[in-house]
Amino acid sequence: MQDILLLSSSVQKCFDSLNSLDMRCPFCNHEDSKVTDSRFAAEVNAIRRRRECTQCMRRFTTFETVDLSLQVKKRDGTFEDFMQDKLIHGLDAACRHTRVSHDQVRALAYKIKADLVGKGIREIESQRLGEIVLQHLLGIDVVAYIRFACVYKRFKDIQELVEAIQSIAPEGSTVLRELEQEEDIHAADEK
Ligand SMILES: [Zn+2]
Repeated sequence: MQDILLLSSSVQKCFDSLNSLDMRCPFCNHEDSKVTDSRFAAEVNAIRRRRECTQCMRRFTTFETVDLSLQVKKRDGTFEDFMQDKLIHGLDAACRHTRVSHDQVRALAYKIKADLVGKGIREIESQRLGEIVLQHLLGIDVVAYIRFACVYKRFKDIQELVEAIQSIAPEGSTVLRELEQEEDIHAADEK
């Protein structure tokens, strides 16, 4: 709930700065128009404004939206849009057979994006994003943490994996036990 408030307050700040921007008149192309009425349409993160041209005095309506997009810089240097569904899918896979529910996964994915956008961050390296996800997962479920780390960190060999598990000691030993139990669950699933 707090995150929603945080996000909507950052959206409101964007609107406030947009409010002072000049908008050309669509009839005479005059640069200056005054806002006569503003309405916030919260459900679409947009604002509808009635404007009046200060030159030809005609009235028109603008519909302004705030760009809440977040760009992810990949390892190869290219950018892609932050995809909430992709993060949810990755988290779901990591949280399979854990106590973490799909709703918790969705809430976490939402929180991660809301935190970033709320701080005014518009682009983030995939590596940094992965670290943020891992920090959250560590506090939620260590098995999900290790699974996500396996995909995200691309361990070269089992030794690197073991070192990663040991690095989150003292939970490390219980993680190994839980992973073993989980192997049993998978084996049972296949029967
Ligand atoms: Zn005009």
